[in-house]
Amino acid sequence: MTVITQERAERIARAQACPRCSEYTYKRLKLRAAEPTDHVAGAAWIAELICGVCSAHLQLALEGDGDVLFFN
Ligand SMILES: [Zn+2]
Repeated sequence: MTVITQERAERIARAQACPRCSEYTYKRLKLRAAEPTDHVAGAAWIAELICGVCSAHLQLALEGDGDVLFFN
């Protein structure tokens, strides 16, 4: 399976609405490849985000094809 690029994963991450306040502004986004130690089955990318509106600390997991596994 071809895994989406980091650039594309970041674009997808930024396109997700904050699960708390439904805004799309992130003051921080740190994206990295998922590792076995993350224990997130099926994840290819993990992003840590801080919402620019409500300051929630969020974690996003993406599958290799860019589908969102979870965002909370
Ligand atoms: Zn928010």
